Parts: sequence; structure tokens; C-alpha cells
Amino acid sequence: MTGQIARMRFTLDALQQICGQPDRPLSDCPTCRAIPDGARWYQEDDTVKVDTIPPEAQRLVAFIVLDGTNLEWIARCPDCGRLYWMTDEYEYSSNSPSTTDRTVTRVDNAEALLRRMKGIRQYKDIVRDGNVWRAQKKGVWAADRRDSVADVLKRFATTEPQPLPSPAEPPRAATVTIGDSTIPDVLYDLANVLPTFEGVDLESQLQTYDGFLDILAPTVRAGICALFRTAAQATTISATRARLNAAADAVERGDRAALP
Ligand SMILES: [Zn+2]
Repeated sequence: MTGQIARMRFTLDALQQICGQPDRPLSDCPTCRAIPDGARWYQEDDTVKVDTIPPEAQRLVAFIVLDGTNLEWIARCPDCGRLYWMTDEYEYSSNSPSTTDRTVTRVDNAEALLRRMKGIRQYKDIVRDGNVWRAQKKGVWAADRRDSVADVLKRFATTEPQPLPSPAEPPRAATVTIGDSTIPDVLYDLANVLPTFEGVDLESQLQTYDGFLDILAPTVRAGICALFRTAAQATTISATRARLNAAADAVERGDRAALP
């Protein structure tokens, strides 16, 4: 990947940029045409009960790892870029058969992928992590994230690690364009420290928000208000709480956040 931006807010738009489109029809891809839309490998103790995953599926490469689980992830065809939802669950039981259940399910596009990922609320960002992307949740320990990525990559030990195809377009989000309807990361990061400011220092921070409000689409105002109100609840400084709530009210009516 040539672009240096390795973090985007988790949105459908970001997923579409990362996933791109398959570069040819299914029937023209030697890997994908060998893989059914849904394939499964199921074993009870030592007996394989279902085996419809063709050897070509071993060519798929890990693509997106999900924070909080190493039982499900997204792989991609190295030839055409098609996406696959992968699961691998092992269940041990002492008084009934132990089972291994693996599935490979083709995913048509980023929208279908988002539905499988259970919507956008669950994830905060999507970040580049070595050779894969990682859908990042809040409140997951860094060590657990590393373990999830390592566990998933282990399942691809039979294939050489390969660099992923570049996204269809370079990801944005680090730059802000006029009329953008996405709140940039910097304003989320700043909101985390707003509760610690007061007086002129707080006004100076609010001016930063005004600078962005001048550029961004009016639809971001509701989101900025929510950031201010959350910060107001978080602060222990009563003057700061009142000021942040007043700033939220002002932005809501279309005024400036900072005092003139
Ligand atoms: Zn393919």
C-alpha cells in the first residue's frame, strides 16, 4: 500500500474504499470459481462429516480482523479481490463429540460485509495492522488485539504472507475537504480532553471546533453537539460543564461554539 494513512473512521464509505471491487467476473477467476458461495468443513471427533471447502480456498488471504474475536474474520481472493467471511470454531466436550466447524462464505460487496459485521455502531475505526486491516472497537486491550491478529494469521500459515492489493482509492479522513459530512478524528480526540480545560483555554479549544464547522457540512453539527454534551458530563469542573453545554446549545442553533 502506497498511502501512509492507516486509520479511518469505521463507516460504509471507508469499507467501500478498502474493499474496492472484484476486478473480473466470478467465472474468470481461477480461485473464486472453484469456491462455492458457501462452503463448510465440519468434523466430530475424528470423523469429517461435511467437507465442501475446495483446496483453492487455501489461497485466500487474511484481509480484515475483527476486534474481540478470532473466530470470524474476512479474507480476500489474491487474484480478483473478492471477499469471504471466514469462521473457524472448535468446541471441546468431554461427554459428547468435540467439533470443529469451519465456513467460507462469499460476500458480494461492502454493504453485505457491513451487515455481517452487525452494523457500524459496534466499531469505531478501521486501522492498518501489518498486512491486514483491523476493525477496531473501543475498550479492547492492545495485547488482545495483537493476539487476535496473530491467531487469524496462523490460519493462513499454508500461504506466503502477501501484501494486500491497494485500496481502490487512497483513503482520506486525515484531510478535511469543504462540505465533508464526516467529523474528523482530530475533533474526537480533542473531545476526550475537553473536560480538562477551563476559561480561556477552553475557549481556544472551542475555536478549533468553529474552524472545522466553517468547513464541514452542516449535518455534522448534531455530532459535534453530542461530543460537547458527553464532555460536559465527563468533567468535574462545574464552570466547564456549563460552558460546554452552552457551546452545544449554540452549535445546535447554528451559532459559534466559542465566545466572540
Ligand atoms: Zn477471485
